[in-house]
Order: sequence, then C-alpha cells, then structure tokens
Amino acid sequence: MERRAITVEGTVQGVGFRPFVYSLAFRLGLGGYVKNQAGRVFIEVEGESATLDRFLTELEASPPQLSRIETVAWERRPTAHESHFRIETSDRNASGSIFISPDVATCDECLAELLDPANRRYGYPFLNCTHCGPRLTIIQGAPYDRGRTTMATFPMCPACRQEYDDPKNRRFHAQPTACAKCGPRLSLLSADGARIETADPLASFVQALAAGKIGALKGLGGYHLVCDATSELAVTQLRRRKARDEKPFAVMVADVETAEQFCEIGALERSLLVSSRRPIVLLRKRLVPELQIAEAVAPANPYFGVMLPYTPLHHLLLRAVDGAPLVMTSGNRSDEPIAYLDDEAISRLGSIADVFLSHDRPIHVRCDDSVTRVIDGGESPIRRSRGYAPEPVRLPISCLFPILAVGGQLKGVFALGRDRQAILSHHMGDLDHWDAYRAFVRDIGLYEELFAAKPRAIVHDLHPDYASTNYARERATSDGVPLIAVQHHHAHMASCMAEHQLDEPVIGVSFDGTGFGTDGNIWGGEFLVGDYRQVRRAAHLRYVGMPGADKAIHEPWRMAVAHLRDAGCTLDCLGSRISPTALQTVDTMLKRHFNTPLTSSAGRLFDAVASMIGIRDSVTFEGQAAQQLEWLSKEAPPEAAYPFEFGTTDVQYDQSRAKPSFSVSHLVGWMSSHRVDVIDTRPLIRAVVADIANGIGASQTICLRLNLCTSVRNLGSQKT
Ligand SMILES: [Zn+2]
Ligand SMILES: [Zn+2]
Repeated sequence: MERRAITVEGTVQGVGFRPFVYSLAFRLGLGGYVKNQAGRVFIEVEGESATLDRFLTELEASPPQLSRIETVAWERRPTAHESHFRIETSDRNASGSIFISPDVATCDECLAELLDPANRRYGYPFLNCTHCGPRLTIIQGAPYDRGRTTMATFPMCPACRQEYDDPKNRRFHAQPTACAKCGPRLSLLSADGARIETADPLASFVQALAAGKIGALKGLGGYHLVCDATSELAVTQLRRRKARDEKPFAVMVADVETAEQFCEIGALERSLLVSSRRPIVLLRKRLVPELQIAEAVAPANPYFGVMLPYTPLHHLLLRAVDGAPLVMTSGNRSDEPIAYLDDEAISRLGSIADVFLSHDRPIHVRCDDSVTRVIDGGESPIRRSRGYAPEPVRLPISCLFPILAVGGQLKGVFALGRDRQAILSHHMGDLDHWDAYRAFVRDIGLYEELFAAKPRAIVHDLHPDYASTNYARERATSDGVPLIAVQHHHAHMASCMAEHQLDEPVIGVSFDGTGFGTDGNIWGGEFLVGDYRQVRRAAHLRYVGMPGADKAIHEPWRMAVAHLRDAGCTLDCLGSRISPTALQTVDTMLKRHFNTPLTSSAGRLFDAVASMIGIRDSVTFEGQAAQQLEWLSKEAPPEAAYPFEFGTTDVQYDQSRAKPSFSVSHLVGWMSSHRVDVIDTRPLIRAVVADIANGIGASQTICLRLNLCTSVRNLGSQKT
C-alpha cells in the first residue's frame, strides 16, 4: 500500500476535473480525496503501487474535454488507511487563482437532452453542464461559484440541486446549471422595449424573421442583430439601419452541410467550425452555390464569415427557421461596441431592430464573437474573443512578477502576465468609445481579481495619446508601480515570438498600418533585430508624407499622391476620379509639409497602390483597400515581384531634424542603431505606373506582382 500527493496544473478548474478524478479513483477502488487549490488541483490517493501508476497514466491520458494539463507532480506520503474517495471543498483562503474557462458551446450530451421530448430539459434554451455553457460572460468575481455569477438570482430547484451535489453527475458543481422550473426565461419585446405577451417568444420571433423583419437576439456575450440571410431586402434594410456600408455580416447556419452549400470548406476549417470555441470562420464563397445568400451580406467580398450555433437558444432558433441561414451580426450601430445590457440594447438597437428576443440572465462581461481563418494550413485568428478568452497563452519565458499590459487603441485588448502565462482579455473594441473604455477599466479589475494577479508593473504602447496609455499612466501613479513603454512593432515582434515559443534573437518584420515610432514618425514597415529585452531598427520602408494625417487613412488616394510625387511620377493614373482642386490641395500640403506626418507604413503603401490602380480611392473601414488588393493577388513567383531597392539615406527625412515631440523616460528595450537601412519604394511605384501605362491596370497581373512578402524575400537574398 502506498499514498501519493499529486498536484495537477494547467486548465483544470471549472472544467469537471474533480468529478473526473473522483470517478477514476472510484473505478480503480482507491481511497483519498481531491480538491481545488490556488489555480491547480490537489489529489491525495492511496492504494497498491501498480494501481496508483495506472491512476496517473489514465489521469494524463483521458482528462475532461475542456481541461488542459500542463504539469503533473507527485510525492509519497504516509498512508492513512483510507479506502473511500471524496471530493473536498476548495481552499477559499489560498492565494492564487481559480481558473476561469472561456464560454463553451453546447456539448453533444446537452444538445441531445435539448432535443429529447422525454428529457426534463427538452426545449429549454438555457441548459448547460460542466462541459459546456456560459463562463466568462456571467462571472462577476472570484472564486468562481454560482453566487458570484449572474445566475445568483436563480435559486436551484430540488432536481437541479441534486444533480449539482452529485459527484457522479455531469452537472456536479456546474455553476450555471438550470432548468425551465428554476432558470432564466425568454421574453419578447417590441422595438421600444415593451413586453409582448406571447406563449412562445421564440416562435413569435421566428415569425417576425420569416416576414422579413430584423430581430435583436440576446446571446452569450452581447446582442446580435438577426435577419434572413437569403433575403436581399431584409439584409439591405439591416445594412441601412445599422449605417454599415460594406463591412461583411456574419452568417449562422445549422450545420457544416448547410455551410457547404455556399462555401468552400477544408478539413481545418471544418474542425474550427464545429469546435467548442465556435468562432466565426472566414470561408471562401462557392463560385456556383447551391444555396443563394444575399449579396448584401458580404458585398464584393470573396469570403463569408460563418459560424455554427453555440448556445441552446441558437440551436432552437436554427431549428425553428428550418435550418435557413441567418445573418448574425454584432448588435451595434456602425463601429460602436456591441450592446450587452438590456436597457442599453433597447435604446441603442431600438431604431434598428423590429423585435427583441431577450431573457433575464444578465450578461456581465461583454464578449464579441471570435473571428478566425486558415492561412497556409494553419489557424490564424483575426479576433480572439468569445470561446478563446481568457484562456492563457503559454509563454516561453517566465514573468518575474505580475505585469499588466494595456495594448493599443483600435482593437483594445489587455493582458495579465503571470508566471509563464499571458492571460489575454476578450476583445474590447475601439477605446475611443466611452462604453468600450469603461468596460476596459472594469474588466481589468475583474481579471486581476479572477486570476489573483496584482500588477507590479504597467506596460503601455509608446503612443502618447492612446486611451490605454492614459490609463497606464494613471494606474502606475495611483499604485506606485513602474511604467514601461514599448514601441508598437517591438511588441508585435515579441508577441509573435511568444506565440511560436521562441526565446532567441530574431529578425522581426512587421507590416502594419500605424505604430508610433521612437522618432515621433508613424511606423509600419519595420525590420527589427533583437529579442524580448531589446531591439534595434535595422531597416524600414522609405518615409513618405501622409497628407492630412488620419484623413490619409480614410482616403487612400492621398497616399497615392504622396507615393507618386515621392517617386517623381505624374498623377495621371488617378485620372479624373479625384477633383483637380483636391489633388492640388494635397500636392501643396506635401510640398509645404503641412499637416503631413511621415510614415513608413506598409498599410499605406498598399492603400496607395490600391488607389493608383483604381480599386479604391476611399475606404469605409480599416484595412479595406489592402484587403481588396489581397483578394486579387495570388502567390507571386519570385521573379514577378515588383522591385525594391536598398538605400542608407532617406531624402525626405533628415535624421538631424528627428526630434520626438514627446519624452518617454520609461521606454525600454530600445538600442540606438548606427545605421538604419531604408527600403526604397520608389522603383515599385514607378513599375506600377509603367504597368498602368501599358494598359495592365487593375487586372490580376498588377496585383500578382504586388506581393510584398515575395519582394522582401528577394530583398533578403540580395542582402545576404
Ligand atoms: Zn453540456
Ligand atoms: Zn431546475
């Protein structure tokens, strides 16, 4: 006989780990106990040595679906002659954290119950269990139990309580568990928020959708706007009311088979669609679809954003509309953050939606759908939020103490660094919006509580005017902790290294839209050499002016003028599309350096070419012109790529004049460089102009040749 104390670390709490350990020990006839400790599971188990070995093997071989074991350590303990196994209550006073799982899509067992007329939860839109259901979106504090979630106001009925208390039950300690008797209920509201009395709110909602109306649906992390995705009329109406000109809408379908009728789906895309994270997956449109989706869903876009149902309510909804695809887009106007509070949803979405399908389980943490795509056979997330956050990213290095990093401005996300983990928050949206900023501040507090991490340093982007930078300054002052500024592209490089578990010096190439540079210019075509600690700028794309500053981002033709003038070309290719007066104004601004900051941005280079070849002169959302160029381009053979040249001087930019308009004494990791190479973009611009003159224009050929990666690879081989 032998007794072992086993510690299991990783994603092991709130995922049904203790019941799993219990049933494993029970099956092997072992004695002892299991309990949650600060951020880990602790087991003492007693029996014959061989059986204990088997216990450990099976523990690691088949843990619960949602868990992820990082380490298992054990040591011998004196035997206590225990023959029964039990689950002990968790250590509440232990410092450290209870792991919080991301929200998880309805599991197969729950789905089967939902559709089984004999089950007591048949047709109940809020069923869940230890393996699935809401997590991050309903949690209000630590440690994670029902009293600290938005389920606190729903006392369990005896039947639910019995399941909750039974270690052999799938709902043992499933905090959000409920049934029709004791749990949340659906309600139907009119556009002004008045309750509409109906025996079946879901059926009435579906009737409205069938009649071409626009619905607002309270989901997991916020409200969605919903309509029939096959109705051109309904989708166009939604687009008009939402004031969203061209940005694509996501579509929800009942299953992969339905998605296959209008999209191309590869093996990895399929597995992402059906995964318990249930992100929106970008899928290439089928040339000859069997099911016609309204053009207005994703106008002039070769992709659809598609997701499968992830809550019981979605499953019921998709069944009620006979599996018809539904537009399921964030409940917001234009670029505002998604609405998630009931009152706010009515006031903000009342002018868009005709009818609301709501319920009385509050959403605490606003969490947008995640968006992902497959590139070169691997997953490449575009927005990592619902279903992913707050799952930690494993770091190749260890944080010496807890660190809070507050991120950029446009796609606000913060991170808590703790030990070898970076806990990345859900997506907060544009921090220029007061709502988004308020949620940002509140949720930083929530994460610090959930993960028991009190930051001892605050890290921010070098940009002096980001809302996140302001927060960092105030926070560092009030907490009396150090403030650390990191240059935008050094941060990009380090993130990329962490994602790929690198801890060695690298050459980091960052092609970006906008990042504040150490010289006060706007960077975005950067070649950095260094590691996590320090980095030097080895080369960058040649500086050109951004006439009108931010205006040049919304109007790519301004960047076309800047690049054409820089390359000594005429403005002929812009033809009559831009008024001569406007052209002249911008020309003058460039000459006089009036409101014309300098940029080395690759994004602005794409913009310039997109405008030159007539794809886009202005954009309605970030990155639109570059995206359209990408759609037209194919993998370019090396010899076809447009030329760049190396230079060590930058005519437009006089180093001696470089005086940053700010001083950041806490900028870290920056090595001054003896020489910065400049990658001359002028040969590229001239070659594009020549192609246009030869009548190639916006055909595939020109885009084929604008493959920056290929060009850089060529450049690399020259340079080597
Ligand atoms: Zn379940
Ligand atoms: Zn119940």
